[in-house]
Amino acid sequence: MSIADNLLKYKNELDEVAVKLIAVSKYQEASAVLEAYNAGQRVFGENIVQELVEKQAQLPPDIEWHLIGHLQTNKVKYIAPFISLIQSVDSLKLLIEINKQAAKNKRVIDCLLQIYIADEDTKFGLGYDEAIDLLRSEEFTAMKNVRITGLMGIASNNALEKQTLDEFTELRVLFDGIKVSFFRKDDSFKELSMGMSGDYKLAIEAGSTMVRVGSNIFGKRKIKHWKEEV
Ligand SMILES: *Cc1c(COP(=O)(O)O)cnc(C)c1O
Repeated sequence: MSIADNLLKYKNELDEVAVKLIAVSKYQEASAVLEAYNAGQRVFGENIVQELVEKQAQLPPDIEWHLIGHLQTNKVKYIAPFISLIQSVDSLKLLIEINKQAAKNKRVIDCLLQIYIADEDTKFGLGYDEAIDLLRSEEFTAMKNVRITGLMGIASNNALEKQTLDEFTELRVLFDGIKVSFFRKDDSFKELSMGMSGDYKLAIEAGSTMVRVGSNIFGKRKIKHWKEEV
């Protein structure tokens, strides 16, 4: 199956349930991204700032780029001019920097709070209480150049279906609670980014509005040119 065939399959499946597809192009050559672009895909997700910046410079300007990997505060400045959505906000400190760089670029940057839902030590993200504390903080309340449009989560690797579904459902419940408590009158808080190649069906069952699919579209990831953020 070609990239275009894979995309078509997802498009048909996701359109039916009104879920948005983020094509995760990390570790793929720019030519593969262009192939997907020519097949109609416009939204791409990348993990690593350097890789994202290099691709953004050589690919069509109407691509909507999402950052989905851990973001270090000192790298926000490189993506602030063009990023469409930062899905991986995992601290107040990071959000403060995004707000600052967005202001410098005279933009409002959309962000998702990444919530820790997996039963593992290795994943980034805010705990439930930390997310609530962030939303209640004076620093956040005063921010003018970021907009929180939802939540993102990554389920445990290699878990049984039941556990994966439970993790996604917990995130959905948190989303509903945060919506009511903090964004009741704010229509832009509406995204729940959960689900990847292996678990997107369970994520949709639990209420996902955007899935992040890489290997099912592009095949195996190519040689790493860039070091993963740590
Ligand atoms: C790599 C990655 C994906 C895509 O993973 P696949 O299993 O290739 O679909 C989705 N979300 C995040 C945060 C990722 O790092």
